Amino acid sequence: MDYSHYPFYISFDEVPVSIFCTTRHGGFSLWPFETCNISFNTQDRPEIIIENRIITAARMKIPIERFVFLNQVHGDSVHYVGASDCGKAFQVPVLEGDAMFTDQMGVCLAITLADCVGVIIFDPEKYVSGICHSGWKGCLMNICGKLVDKMVENCGCKPDNLIACISPSICYRCYTVSAQLAEKFGDVYRDFVIEKNKSYHLDLKGIVVSQLTEKGINRNRIFSSDMCTAENTHIFYSHRVEKNTGRFMFGIYMQ
Ligand SMILES: [Zn+2]
Repeated sequence: MDYSHYPFYISFDEVPVSIFCTTRHGGFSLWPFETCNISFNTQDRPEIIIENRIITAARMKIPIERFVFLNQVHGDSVHYVGASDCGKAFQVPVLEGDAMFTDQMGVCLAITLADCVGVIIFDPEKYVSGICHSGWKGCLMNICGKLVDKMVENCGCKPDNLIACISPSICYRCYTVSAQLAEKFGDVYRDFVIEKNKSYHLDLKGIVVSQLTEKGINRNRIFSSDMCTAENTHIFYSHRVEKNTGRFMFGIYMQ
């Protein structure tokens, strides 16, 4: 098993698209970010993060100058990005937000994760790709539903055609939340708040899948990793378990 870019979730045999998820292996970061931290939004050294980005891109055979990253803020902004947003992988991202999409070939959309749910949406008919980062705030704001809306409005995507891929993320068993937070999800997302032994658990991945199907994406076109980041800190990063830690990368490249 090649952990440096394991696992691949889906391969599009007929179309030149790569969807990838990195792990914490194969980079240069030292404890507690060991070893392949991709995000500037950590206390890791910037020059090491840059080295990690370079080596990861090279392994995936994607030119580093094609990447677009976001300054992720747990908001609900959705950005259209293109070639002019590329070439900034060695600096803190200027685009603030948690979702982006493009209809341009040669643009690699990437987000960084440690427990939150990453969602990739791809339209194989129109060649449009989108990505978002959805933690509990993103789930409450329905960021992935808003991303689908934008792809439909701006690029003419039909939800029927869309394929979605969901990243490794924290599972509901590991994701305990306060009663106050559980309450916030109570009305719309009651099915995804699980009460166990007087504690509350939130099923973020379940919420995301419901938001995608609500927008008309076929359930059998949603591919989800069943790996839990909190239970697999030997492979990924987990903010909940490790607190001060790194981020792995989830992305899509239409070449
Ligand atoms: Zn878990």
